[in-house]
This record gives sequence, structure tokens and C-alpha cells, in this order.
Amino acid sequence: MSNVRVRIAPSPTGTLHVGTARTALYNYLYAKRHGGTFIMRLEDTDEERSKEEHTQDILAGLKWLELTWDEGPDIGGPYAPYRQMEKIDHYEKVANQLITNGTAYFCYCTQDELARLKEEQKAASKAARYDNRCRHLSEAKLTQFEKEGRIPAIRFRVDEPRIVSWHDGIKGEIEISSSDLGGDMVIVKSTGVATYNFAVVVDDIDMKMTHVIRGEDHIHNTAKQILIYEALGTTPPEFAHPALLFDEQRRKLSKRLHGEAVHIDNYRKLGYMPEAIVNYLAQVSWSPAEGKEIFSLEEGCKMFDLSRVSKSPAVFDVQRLNWFNSHYIRDLSLAIITDRAMPYLPLFEGSGYTRADLEKIVSCVRDGLTTLSEITEATRFFFEPKVEISDELKDTVLAKEQSAKVLKQVLDISSNFPYADPAGCKALVDNIGKELGLKGKDLYWPIRTALSGKVQGPDLGSMIANLGEARVKARLEAALGFCQSKQTV
Ligand code: GLU
Repeated sequence: MSNVRVRIAPSPTGTLHVGTARTALYNYLYAKRHGGTFIMRLEDTDEERSKEEHTQDILAGLKWLELTWDEGPDIGGPYAPYRQMEKIDHYEKVANQLITNGTAYFCYCTQDELARLKEEQKAASKAARYDNRCRHLSEAKLTQFEKEGRIPAIRFRVDEPRIVSWHDGIKGEIEISSSDLGGDMVIVKSTGVATYNFAVVVDDIDMKMTHVIRGEDHIHNTAKQILIYEALGTTPPEFAHPALLFDEQRRKLSKRLHGEAVHIDNYRKLGYMPEAIVNYLAQVSWSPAEGKEIFSLEEGCKMFDLSRVSKSPAVFDVQRLNWFNSHYIRDLSLAIITDRAMPYLPLFEGSGYTRADLEKIVSCVRDGLTTLSEITEATRFFFEPKVEISDELKDTVLAKEQSAKVLKQVLDISSNFPYADPAGCKALVDNIGKELGLKGKDLYWPIRTALSGKVQGPDLGSMIANLGEARVKARLEAALGFCQSKQTV
């Protein structure tokens, strides 16, 4: 193992976002590419907004994508995630070291005072920032605040002016003015709970992170964090910030604007293949030098190159994701696709088909699917005891005299179909067409309508073979009944 150590550090303030999944993926790929370690850490110090249900959603989503982590509390099975709330006392201890070395101080400002400051700044059209008023409190003020029973927060000194700079693994040289960081920052709230920017640094040091790969919305946080690393006398890890994901109108992908479309579990429910999500997300802003488009997670691990990740905003394109998904639905083994299709096939149970029959059914419809949930409708006619034929099809397709002839002839030979051989079944239908001088729609549509209630669908030979003799006969007879009733009216 190399010393490369990276992490995904989601805050469970929301469900697993596609952008977080992509960040997790890039970290995972980077770790595996360099023989390193991938770590999962829940940044759950925002007590009001963190929810256990979000935690469970995030963990389940990452596991579904097979982005499993290499370290964590041992719970006798796959590792649990690290959770920051379990280290609260430790962060406070480290913050006290900063007070001792003069880079942090107690701040006694109340919520009301801070809100007032914000309003004044707004009225004066100034950017909101803390005015560092508690940096140099007089003894008298301090005593007064303590007498009032105010419980202090701990703030970190952000010295100004200065430039914070680093070489970013994706964006190149970055320089941020410390005057743009919002003034001295709270690192431990008056409740004793560390804030994100502080806990993240303490943990990244404790966990010996070598690289921090996270979305570019954290660039200003990185500048703040670099100052904390300095104050703690340590060298920061390498940073790399991939561009965020946008929609086609160049709006940041967000739960507020895009709802469930940003939620990984939504794609699982719709029947997306995790392989497709991983393959697509890997390529949203990275393309392998090898020029490969379709690759597994394992192959991605061998090719991943952070320096080839694009700096430009990436567009999340569902059409392209669908293209990957169709590919994997066609390409994964039939047994896997059939297993994964089960939740979408409630009618299979009790239908009389065997598992082997079902695999054949899945095989004949899967080429036409974009998501696996579409299999419910695509296969419904196989399982339903009777086919519903719409009035429109009765009036247009079955009302034709030639349709009755086709159906009659097919019914006559229905005991002779080689049901184990779809191509053989199709050949017999084509023979009937030749005899009657019919082809295309005139020949196939009445049979398709009779067997499935639709004029389009899987290969006709496969439909006949998979339905089997009893169903084929019963459906042809029922449809002939409609033909006759139409023609006598
Ligand atoms: N907890 C942060 C978030 O969910 C990630 C921070 C990081 O990767 O440093 O955005």
C-alpha cells in the first residue's frame, strides 16, 4: 500500500447527491489507482440539519455504487463510517491549543448582536463579515460578559491582508485574499460543537489525509483551512477541486431546483444500473487517456488520472446517462439483469413461468429498455392472464378481413410451432405470410395485437416461443372472436 489516503466526507444534511457520488468516485479511483486508502467520514456536526435517515441514504447509495471504504470502526463486517460527533471533545481540546498559541480567542457575541451587525452591513451595502470585535476584549468587557452568563464560542484569527495560495491538482495555481474569508471564523460554537472548517482540518490531520479531492464550492473553505493547518504547525494535504455539476441551462444541480433528479437513490429506484452510474459519473469531467468510453469501476481504477479532470463546469446529461444504462442492461449477464428486474416484475409470482422462462422473457425485451423499471410494462402481456386490446386496435387492425385470415391460419398451426426455437416460430409465421401474399404490418400487426395487445414489442418469434402453446392459442382465439364480432356488425 502507498501512503495515499483520501476520503469522502459528506454532511448528512441531505440525501446522497449525484455530485457527492462523483466526488466519492474520484476519491475512490484516486486511492485505488495509487494503491492507497479510501476513507468514509460523516461530517455530522451540524446538529440541527444532520439526520440519521440521510446518513442511511448516503451509506446505502455509496454501497450500491460499490464505493466501499477501506477503514473505519470495526463492527464485524464491512467497516462503519467515522462520525465526527464521536470526537467532539477532541476538537475542543485542539481549539484550546490554538487559544494558547494566540491564533484563536473566545467570542462572546450573541446571535442578536451578530444579526444586527449583518443588517448594518447590508444597509451600508457592505459584504457580510465578522468585524473581529472580540479579538481584543478589555478585561472589563470580559468580566461583564461572564457576569451576564454568556457562553463563549471560539474564533480563529484570520489575519488580513494576506494571500492564501496553493497549487490545486485540477485548477492549478489558486490565490485567495484573506480579506474575502468573512473575518475571524467560529471554530467551536458556544454549544461546544466544532464547526465544519475546524473539524475537517483536525480530522484530515488525524487521519493522515494526503489528498483532499472535493467540489469547487469548497475553494474558499480550503483557504480558511490552510490558515488553520498553519496555526496547528502542520503541512496541508494536496487539494484538488473538480468543477460542479450543472444542468443544461448552466444552473448548479440542486435539490431545490432539480428535486429527486439529483438523488442517487432515485436512479436506483428507476432501475439504473450502478455500473452505468459509475461509468457515466466518472466521465462527466474526466476522460481516460486510453480513449475508452465503456469501463468498469475496476478498469477505471487502473486508468484514473486527476490531471486529466477538466476544469470546466460539467453538464449532467441524463440522455447520456441513459445511453450508458441501456448499454449495461444489454451487456450485463442475463442472470444479473433478471435478479435486478425482480422488484419490477410483481406479476411473475404465480404466473406459471419458471425462472428459466423468465430469463428468456428478460432476454427478449432487454434491448428495448432504457431503465429496468420499464420492464414492468414491456413484459406485462407475458404475465397477464388475458390481453387487453384497445378499441383503437380492434377498429384498425382486427377489423380488417385479412387479419382474421392471418389469425385463423396461425391458430391452425399453433400446435406445430417449435416453441423452443424463436427463429423457427417466426419462420412458420413468414410461411403463412407467403401463402396469403401478406407481409410487414399486414401480417405481423394482427398477430402482435392478439398476443400482446400492442403492435410493437420484442421479436415476434421470441414472443410466441416464450408465451408457449396454451397462451398463444387462447389469445389467438380471443382475438379471432373480436375479428368476427367486428365483421358481422
Ligand atoms: N462535509 C462537506 C460537504 O458535504 C465536505 C467537505 C470536504 O470534503 O472537506 O460538502
